[in-house]
Amino acid sequence: MSEAKHYYQDNALFLDGVNLNDVANQHDTPCYVYSRSAIEEAWTEYDHAFGSAPHLVCYAVKANSNIAILNLMAKLGSGFDIVSLGELERVLAAKGDPAKVIFSGVGKKEVEIKRALEIGIKCINIESEQELYRVKDAAADMGVKAPISLRVNPNVDAKTHPYISTGLKENKFGIDIDEALRIYIDASKMDSIEVTGVDCHIGSQLTDDSPYFDAIDKLIILMDKLKDNGINLHHIDIGGGLGICYDDETPPAKGEYVKRLVAALAEQGLEIIVEPGRSIVGNAGYFLTTVEFLKSNEEKNFAIVDGAMNDLLRPSLYSAWQRIIPLKDNSQAETKVYDIVGPVCETGDFLGKERELAIEPGDILAVCSAGAYGFSMSSNYNSRPKVAEIMVDNGTSHQIRQRESITEMFAAEELLP
Ligand SMILES: *Cc1c(COP(=O)(O)O)cnc(C)c1O
Repeated sequence: MSEAKHYYQDNALFLDGVNLNDVANQHDTPCYVYSRSAIEEAWTEYDHAFGSAPHLVCYAVKANSNIAILNLMAKLGSGFDIVSLGELERVLAAKGDPAKVIFSGVGKKEVEIKRALEIGIKCINIESEQELYRVKDAAADMGVKAPISLRVNPNVDAKTHPYISTGLKENKFGIDIDEALRIYIDASKMDSIEVTGVDCHIGSQLTDDSPYFDAIDKLIILMDKLKDNGINLHHIDIGGGLGICYDDETPPAKGEYVKRLVAALAEQGLEIIVEPGRSIVGNAGYFLTTVEFLKSNEEKNFAIVDGAMNDLLRPSLYSAWQRIIPLKDNSQAETKVYDIVGPVCETGDFLGKERELAIEPGDILAVCSAGAYGFSMSSNYNSRPKVAEIMVDNGTSHQIRQRESITEMFAAEELLP
């Protein structure tokens, strides 16, 4: 099962009515291509499933932070989950509504907190007691009240990759649920703090939604204790993390998951916030890369491509599997099993391993499900410029990021005097 939106027509791969060969010819490779309709449909599936229940879908900016994508979200009425000042400024540049911004992250600096308070964001998710004091002081300095929730660590196992599991005691995220009551009571007495919610985010690429409901059970117990202490919340934020289908995973449908959330929280009567990133943009994006050389030894066949780990890190970082398909069926080429590797000087530089393909140098490949944590995790390692990004939309295509030039790449560097 795949939620992807590509299809073959006249032996060419299309996305949203656009021939991806044309995109590659016009913009060169490597590049990222995103389907506007796929992004909009994914966001809308979340939003509609809430029905009349008070809610806010806050797109997690770190999944893909191109301002064209953020602007699409803003047009849909989305909120935003941010983790840095840079992301906040991107949301503003993309005409996002500051009153719908939620600020997460374990290490917020004073300048970041002050900017967030200055523009009036919806809520700061507090990840430690020290951070609560930093926010309290910043708000007092500015003569404002900071809306906050505590990001609680519910100690549940999200059963996902250890690097993207965040809701266990051993993780750096959030406040231990057993300490939350005491800290909430302290916060409720602070003049420059307004307690508005509770938050958790237990991990990413969850393919089973039961850990969310385990976390909710624990949050409800906490909220009952808060009520007993006269602390009434306005919202509950369940975080993001719903998985997508990369290969044969079968994550719950977004709409079904939301309906179960609404039912589980019906008695609370609070606004429900979700912070999805991957499940909105992941399957909407493709990474296009050209085969440069085919190389074989006794053990292996390698397809050396022009895209690399600096452009798309997930396979190297998490051993993630992403589907790799050719833009056209090359019936002249012999079918072999290839490792698809980039030009970066690291053995860990691969986009896929042991893929059966009939390819020749010059053929173009699409790495599927590359819309989330693709471009946003890219770097200039090996002094490779950041690639171009293109949005396709019902037969038309728009460049939403120019390929970085080599001089731009080192423009901020200086020779010694
Ligand atoms: C990364 C992150 C998300 C989004 O996770 P996805 O798996 O992309 O849905 C949401 N909330 C917080 C706090 C995050 O750190």
